[in-house]
Amino acid sequence: MNLQTAHHVLDGRACSSALKRRIAEEAIRILEQRGRPPHLAAVLVGNDGASRTYVEAKVKACGEVGFRSTLIELPATISEEDLMTQVRQLNADPTLDGFIVQLPLPPHINADRVLQTITPNKDVDGFHPVNVGNMVLGLPCFLSATPSGICELLKYYEVETAGKHCVVVGRSNIVGTPISILLSRNAYPGNSTVTLAHSRTADLPAITRQADILVVAIGKPGFVTADMVKEGAVVVDVGIHRIADPTRKSGFRLVGDVDHASVAPKCKAITPVPGGVGPMTITSLLQNTLKAAR
Ligand code: NAP
Repeated sequence: MNLQTAHHVLDGRACSSALKRRIAEEAIRILEQRGRPPHLAAVLVGNDGASRTYVEAKVKACGEVGFRSTLIELPATISEEDLMTQVRQLNADPTLDGFIVQLPLPPHINADRVLQTITPNKDVDGFHPVNVGNMVLGLPCFLSATPSGICELLKYYEVETAGKHCVVVGRSNIVGTPISILLSRNAYPGNSTVTLAHSRTADLPAITRQADILVVAIGKPGFVTADMVKEGAVVVDVGIHRIADPTRKSGFRLVGDVDHASVAPKCKAITPVPGGVGPMTITSLLQNTLKAAR
């Protein structure tokens, strides 16, 4: 598909549906070959509403593609040592292809220690230092789900990245830093000249206005406004926020880090929120689980 037919929307739902069809076909082949489907487990610690919503969406997506899924719910009071014991059991479980520990964890638990206990070949979130290191070196690995999903979306819409100036705003370990590495690799998508901006960047609007491709992952609703974007840019909005909206039955609506209404008319293409990067993140987790099962 190309951008003309997509009306300038990088539609994560459409791309994710296409990828899920392929994943479901492969899941059937795996079931036929070894007598069981790919199996993903998700560990949810505590009762944070947003975390539960994310984990439930992942479990539901497993069902859609014929994977088995297991949700492991643990109390917020669990000790770090007991959580690590649980992780070691999952590492050793031969019926399980991959698992994730949903973040954030309660403050008394060191998330880095927990994530480093996950065996790299079941680390389908791609957060283990071995997977991150392999990603940097361009070696086989599990790519973390959000940057991988962004790459799949750019591929699906055949967005040209070679020779483009890509500005990534936000340098988190799970989004900004890995997508900046992936887009600068000698590959497709990639071969961009990448600038990685953050909260200490001087004159951010002057930098973002240079972007042919602008990826925004800062966690601030509507932060990027039209004056910060070049005419004809491709904009990927990773942010996701609930904003109170009394006109909606739910009482809220979802918005991104980009002020969509003012920015979209200037863009060659833009991801919507919701329905852009979000569905791609979950689909990438399924792709990683499939890879683990293979
Ligand atoms: P994070 O860990 O909070 O990192 C935010 C980054 O933005 C930091 O590097 C920070 O800079 C930078 N930043 C903050 N304010 C800034 C400013 N005024 N100007 C420039 N840079 C600024 O964020 P994250 O985990 O990457 O998440 C970002 C957003 O994406 C959140 O809304 C999150 O909910 C969303 N998200 C969505 C998905 C999805 O599937 N759609 C997945 C993951 C995250 P410093 O490093 O200097 O502090």
